[in-house]
Amino acid sequence: MEKMDFSKFGYGNVADHIAELEDIVGPENVMTAMHDRALRAASCAPFPMQRWEDHIPDVVVLPGCTEEVADIMKLANKYKLPVVPRGAGCGLADGAFPLNKGICLDMKRMNEILEVDDINRTVTVQPGVNMQELNKVLDKVGMYYPDDPASYGTAVIGGRIGTNGWSVGGAGSGHPANLVCSMEVVLPTGEVVWLGKGGSRKCRNSSAGYRMLELFFGHQGTLGVVTEAVLDCCPKPEVEFPSYYGFASYEEAYNALFEIGISGVKCAVNYIMFDEEKIDFLRRDDEAFIPLPESVKCVVMATFAGTEGEVLAARKKILGIMKKMKGTYLGEEQAWGDWATRHDRYHLAVHCRDGQGQVVTMSWHCEDNCMIHSELPEFTHGLHKIVKKYVDKYDNIFNDAGCFIYCGGPYRTWGDYLAEVDVFINEYAMTPELWEVWLDMKREIAELAVDLGGSISICHGACREGDVDVLIEKELVDGQFEMMKKIKKLFDPNNIMNPGKYRLDLAY
Ligand SMILES: Cc1cc2nc3c(=O)[nH]c(=O)nc-3n(C[C@H](O)[C@H](O)[C@H](O)COP(=O)(O)OP(=O)(O)OC[C@H]3O[C@@H](n4cnc5c(N)ncnc54)[C@H](O)[C@@H]3O)c2cc1C
Repeated sequence: MEKMDFSKFGYGNVADHIAELEDIVGPENVMTAMHDRALRAASCAPFPMQRWEDHIPDVVVLPGCTEEVADIMKLANKYKLPVVPRGAGCGLADGAFPLNKGICLDMKRMNEILEVDDINRTVTVQPGVNMQELNKVLDKVGMYYPDDPASYGTAVIGGRIGTNGWSVGGAGSGHPANLVCSMEVVLPTGEVVWLGKGGSRKCRNSSAGYRMLELFFGHQGTLGVVTEAVLDCCPKPEVEFPSYYGFASYEEAYNALFEIGISGVKCAVNYIMFDEEKIDFLRRDDEAFIPLPESVKCVVMATFAGTEGEVLAARKKILGIMKKMKGTYLGEEQAWGDWATRHDRYHLAVHCRDGQGQVVTMSWHCEDNCMIHSELPEFTHGLHKIVKKYVDKYDNIFNDAGCFIYCGGPYRTWGDYLAEVDVFINEYAMTPELWEVWLDMKREIAELAVDLGGSISICHGACREGDVDVLIEKELVDGQFEMMKKIKKLFDPNNIMNPGKYRLDLAY
């Protein structure tokens, strides 16, 4: 694929427009100091240290309202200044990472809850609102916004929309794309539009007109800036019940996953399988992991939420299916322990071990493929084979931390899955050559996913090096990438929004 060349876009010099930006948002909300800018070049994974200094934004601007965002966009469009929106910066596909520097539009000041409507069960928020904080407010009126990623305490609404995020409880209550009723977007030209699913901002359904809202899920800040959103809330579940079952083999656990997936239990929020490599990893590296009998090679976790009666009945039904499928109930301590750590289980990465059992600092990286049920075994076994090849060849650099397989779809527990492989990487040993090796590993995993009829990404986005090339060549085929390029050019004639992301520079 041809290399990115930003010179042809004739971008203006951001430094020449600092005073105008200060006029728009106030001097206290324009940051030019190196440490403020460098902080916004950091991303979670992988290798924040790898070439990060090439991508420090020229300036950080913190708008306080829609009008300010619109004025910034008009200025940026006039002088051709790159703009990259940033939420919490915890996206795992480097979406908020400026490939061509420019203005980092840090949306965290826009963090107000504008309206709680307990009759129509919606909440209207600015994009810098975080779900954990939002739910503290909603709890007071018996409402609950159910988007529940493992980054629940960190990610914000704008980033959840920008990435088309996936919620751990999504099988019960949907993912962000199902939970946003409508939203306000400032387009690259500075025009402000409302996009919804129906006539009013709070309507959830309509067949009148195009489904414009969808276009902005997973756009990674390439089409506009989300400045307000109306979210669909639900009642807080009366009870939650996680349960944990051990299996002697991958095959038994996989078959059990199928049976519970199609059981018809309506209050299931997620079924999660831990494969053999994941259990090995937890045994080896997680001091907090409650020891399991050696006979347990794989685990399936089933979590329910709803009214007490529903959950009791579901628990009984699933226990019966698991028994039939040769699963062993592992007790409440295991299940509650794991469910309680769902928001911080990935912090484990800081003390992974090398091939000799020594603790080394490793950064967590995760491939979030979407896979259909029939192909799961070939996919998960295949990707461990790929990772093992690199682990064996580059000992102490890469580490296979196993796979979680979560049911993937909204409001259902069957069909497709988030098949996530966690790879730990010894960041401090990285070199430019090893970076290329890492990209090769990513490409092999991405190709396997697409070859088996899946997707490279269910929620993080496939816009990073190593993913995006396979995406364009193998996944976005049959005119899909061509259509994306046309849309991008229509919305953003000067390619100022997050330039280079998804290789949409190729549209111009
Ligand atoms: C420990 C950990 C666990 C995680 N678990 C999950 C999980 O379970 N499910 C999941 O889906 N993800 C998960 N993630 C990934 C991450 O949390 C999500 O991708 C999240 O949606 C990113 O939100 P953010 O606010 O940090 O967005 P950012 O990283 O700041 O931005 C993400 C993208 O959205 C764009 N963007 C941000 N704000 C706006 C806006 N207002 N308007 C337009 N575009 C905007 C950015 O330009 C960027 O392209 C996890 C990450 C970590 C570190």
